[in-house]
Amino acid sequence: MKLGIDVSAFAQKFSPAQYYMNLPSLAPAETVALFLDFDGTLVEIVEHPDLVAIDESTKEALSIVSGCLSSALAIVTGREIEVIDKFLAPLKLPVAGIHGLMRRDADGRIPQPPEKLAHFVDTVAERLKSFSQSEAGLVLEIKASSVALHYRARPELERLCLEVCEAAIVDFSDVELKRGKMVFEIKPDIANKGTAILDYMKEAPFTGRTPWFAGDDVTDEDAFKVVNELGGVTIKVGPGDTVAKYRVANTAEFVKWLAESADKLGSKERT
Ligand SMILES: [Mg+2]
Repeated sequence: MKLGIDVSAFAQKFSPAQYYMNLPSLAPAETVALFLDFDGTLVEIVEHPDLVAIDESTKEALSIVSGCLSSALAIVTGREIEVIDKFLAPLKLPVAGIHGLMRRDADGRIPQPPEKLAHFVDTVAERLKSFSQSEAGLVLEIKASSVALHYRARPELERLCLEVCEAAIVDFSDVELKRGKMVFEIKPDIANKGTAILDYMKEAPFTGRTPWFAGDDVTDEDAFKVVNELGGVTIKVGPGDTVAKYRVANTAEFVKWLAESADKLGSKERT
């Protein structure tokens, strides 16, 4: 008899040592510092980055969990801080944006990015602009401290996009060219999601707690390494190689776990 599930394909995708259907509980609340990626972790990835939508129930879960953790919940993302604020409004959480190059702490303070970053971004953006405009479907995203070339609508241009990005940074040293999901992102190599978490862990209300981090993409691996070294809990959302200790199948499964965590933490607070 043939079973309906292809077990060998499943085993190839998820190594058994890493795949857990049930993540541990976010408890006790006073010991947890929770760091979350945004795209692909809290919201599904869609064709254009502006078109993502966050469920009201996810926002509510974030708000409850943040309250129960005494505000030790931060978003750690490739996007700009203001963009995350727009998606999460009226909720305003600590956010590390642009892979750790910008960071707003729990008191709402944002240090200014250094001047050389602005020069770097202007130069690289200028070099990529005519190419991105010459091909329909490419989106050039210019952030405060990095430049991203999205090719989700033109996957056949991947190789050409990579070559053009490499050419745009050929005379810069200490530059990182990162491959995300249907996007190449270029940024100076002075911070990453891991350094952002280390910075938060030095400050109230995060300091002294155990860090947890969930993310879905290659840029989240820096954060997984840091959190593993600190003895924390690391959760990979979806398939792909990772150093994370736990894995959930997809965004929907992670968001469900977050909502359940909010329920458990919230009911404990009420009793
Ligand atoms: Mg992501």
